[in-house]
Amino acid sequence: MAWSVWLVPPIITSVFFVLGVITLYWSIFNWVTARVQAHHEPNTVKKIQVAIGTACAVVSIFALQVIVRGSHLAWTFTNFQLLLLIFVAYFLQLRIPYWVILISGVGFMVLNGNVSAPLSWVYTIVFVLFYVVSYRQSLKLNRWPFARYMAIALVFALVLWFLVKQRYSLSWGNYVTEIADYALLAALMYGYFIIQNKDRRIKDRLFQSANWDALTHVQNYAAFDRAIGYQFQQSLEHDHDLSMIMFDIDHFKRVNDGYGHLAGDEVLKQVASQVTDVLQSLDPSLILYRTGGEEFNIILPGYDLEQTRPIAGQVFHGVQHLVVTYNEIDIQVSISVGVSRLVETDHNPLDFYKRVDANLYHSKQNGRQQITVA
Ligand code: GH3
Ligand code: MG
Ligand code: MG
Repeated sequence: MAWSVWLVPPIITSVFFVLGVITLYWSIFNWVTARVQAHHEPNTVKKIQVAIGTACAVVSIFALQVIVRGSHLAWTFTNFQLLLLIFVAYFLQLRIPYWVILISGVGFMVLNGNVSAPLSWVYTIVFVLFYVVSYRQSLKLNRWPFARYMAIALVFALVLWFLVKQRYSLSWGNYVTEIADYALLAALMYGYFIIQNKDRRIKDRLFQSANWDALTHVQNYAAFDRAIGYQFQQSLEHDHDLSMIMFDIDHFKRVNDGYGHLAGDEVLKQVASQVTDVLQSLDPSLILYRTGGEEFNIILPGYDLEQTRPIAGQVFHGVQHLVVTYNEIDIQVSISVGVSRLVETDHNPLDFYKRVDANLYHSKQNGRQQITVA
């Protein structure tokens, strides 16, 4: 296998070509989602997946076709197009309006210079139909998904390849070989995608459990630690305000001792959910972190003390008005709050954190159920 003599059979090259395109897609996708997740943006993974997948598919289909357009070999990338169609419709489940697919199909015919050929129109319509059926099929959770996938993939390929065969006067031998290659590649793609997707889901779950608290479904201490480090740095670099609200449930031990640990859990869940709702209504960019047993934290980038004060007040009153019903018993809780902002003498996030903590401690010492801002 020297540069001058390439003895690898075309089918092997095709296999690695198709898998290579999917791998390229996965690499870009993983890289982009890692960046998005690192900056705490909302979960837009599905949208990113679809955008990158479509870009990869469209660019590769059109770019390749430019090489062969107008020649007697204009059909050579047919299998590749069919596989990318399956990839976008079935695996990425991209819901493209049907008229957009039709327009793309016509655009493709224009690129190929065969708008006047009736068979090309039939081909385009069947192609769109293939897209619709593949997409619909992917949304249903059926038994024997692989068998159904292969059956649909094959039926459409047989029809489409027959049209190609007629248009370019290919032999039956050619037809059979192409279909066989295609079937092999479609099956391989299925397996490869399932493996990659499983891998992806494991990573997502790890990311989820490493950063979210399983009980209250808010972010945990690890996420808080990362966020405060990042915001501290940002605030120094851009000379922005940065404030923090920290609160702790008063006499929480009494809830556990009086009504049981599960009642305590319920209180934690509802406090977290209530405060999340309050923040959502005031400023959806604010995130609540559970940083300890019954201790929570809110980081407020761009907020000075005067802007933070009313937020802390709303959080405080939100919890004050909350009545948690557990086993038909109404439980009321209050919180003690500490608030502060970053000052020049804070050399690291810990200095800042300690002052907020001291303010919270002051609220506790002073009789609880109050806010200390300093
Ligand atoms: P203070 O007003 O001074 O904060 O008193 P407190 O009773 O709230 O504080 P303390 O730190 O003495 O007790 C906190 C309790 O929270 C102790 C611990 O058992 C309980 N706790 C911590 N995590 C959980 C949890 O996940 N579920 C439940 N039910 N209890 C928890
Ligand atoms: Mg407490
Ligand atoms: Mg505590």
